Amino acid sequence: MKLRFFGATRSVSGSCHVVETLSRRWLLDCGLFQGLSPDMYERNALLPVPASSIDAVFLSHAHVDHSGNLPRLVSQGFTGPIYATPATIDLCSILLADSAYVLRSQTTMLNQKRERRGLAPLPQLYGEDDVAQTLRQMRPVTWNEPFAPCAEIEVVFQPAGHILGASIITLRERGDLPVTLAFSGDLGRRGDWLLAAPAVPSGAQHVILESTYGDRNHRPYAYARSELCKSISSTVQAGGRIVIPAFSVGRTQRMLYELRALMASGDVPDIPVFVDSPLSVKASEHFIRHAGTCALAVPVVGTPAWMNCTYITDGAESRALLDKPEPYIVITAAGMCEAGRVLRHLARNLPDPASRVLFVGFCAADTLGRMLQDGQKQVRIAGETVHVRAAIDYFDTFSSHADQSGLRQWLAEQPGVRSAFLVHGEQEQSFSLAEQIENAGSVEVVVPFSGEEFILAPDTIEECAG
Ligand SMILES: [Zn+2]
Repeated sequence: MKLRFFGATRSVSGSCHVVETLSRRWLLDCGLFQGLSPDMYERNALLPVPASSIDAVFLSHAHVDHSGNLPRLVSQGFTGPIYATPATIDLCSILLADSAYVLRSQTTMLNQKRERRGLAPLPQLYGEDDVAQTLRQMRPVTWNEPFAPCAEIEVVFQPAGHILGASIITLRERGDLPVTLAFSGDLGRRGDWLLAAPAVPSGAQHVILESTYGDRNHRPYAYARSELCKSISSTVQAGGRIVIPAFSVGRTQRMLYELRALMASGDVPDIPVFVDSPLSVKASEHFIRHAGTCALAVPVVGTPAWMNCTYITDGAESRALLDKPEPYIVITAAGMCEAGRVLRHLARNLPDPASRVLFVGFCAADTLGRMLQDGQKQVRIAGETVHVRAAIDYFDTFSSHADQSGLRQWLAEQPGVRSAFLVHGEQEQSFSLAEQIENAGSVEVVVPFSGEEFILAPDTIEECAG
């Protein structure tokens, strides 16, 4: 078996790895590179291998840094199946459509700049038609049921506990010297109220392991919950509102579950909660639809049992919310505050010293979210200067990624593993995890570069020359 790295190497976006056996070629994920770098268009336009040479794609989960370049692959001639869980397919239907929409406005802006420099316009990476065709090529797979896409390998998807439908994918080569490779995708956390704990694959000699939080451990959920209770309670007492910027898929639903449980136990005052984002509302519907794949007996968000929660899609209703009497909680997108309805809630509430903005996820450098997390007292929203007088909190504890000890534990529970390739982390995170794993035992660790290629044998790995 041969493994070539392409995206999410020494960085966190563009997850995509090429696996080859004697006569077949597959991709693990086909994600979009994200960020503000000027060469982002070229990076996403370039595919690791000719699209028509790929037999199939195995997709770990729906986040666009894992799925977002699939329509590009299809537009360039990939006609094979894309294997994913039913929940991942449903979430892709909204996230890829949204991605095409975002790409359209990004391409327009890019071409305006190019025109000013006398350069020819670039075509959009992909459009709605490519998304529709991508969804037609998706094939649902069931967790823990091995299947054989061809005579050369057997594949099994297992729960990764990261977001709805997220999977660990294990490829078992058939033959005299069979090699088994497990791909963690994005690995979730144990002790999660919402999703099942990550499965531990059996029989893998080699793993591709994410390392987003390879250099640190999260504080326990219980700590975050008690801090969350304090923040919300004091804001309610002061008569303020609480704005929670959150990613539409995963983090929004996590916060709904947390709030519902904390209100049910009386730890947080029983106040109205609004989800104000069309994408978040659609994503929540898929969580309800696939509730059977969720973990524990936590009642499903959106059932009549929890009447506090109102989902808002209509723009006028969203604007009307700004004038509702306090206090209330609004969960809104985008999580990094770079666009979306979160902007109107921030413009309305940031100047109010009684209100509070609760960040529950990572915000990249140069985003409005990061500026607020960093304590800026004045920001620009829709061309206007806004003074920040509201309280700002940041909880990284609600992350849907395993931390360093979770990643190490997952690996330690697979005693047959000979080598681990660390991906999906900035260099600092990957190297820190690599050091910990190497110090602990017999696993050979590689932090690959894009383009590096390895031959995997049952007991060894060998880097290809060139
Ligand atoms: Zn993810």
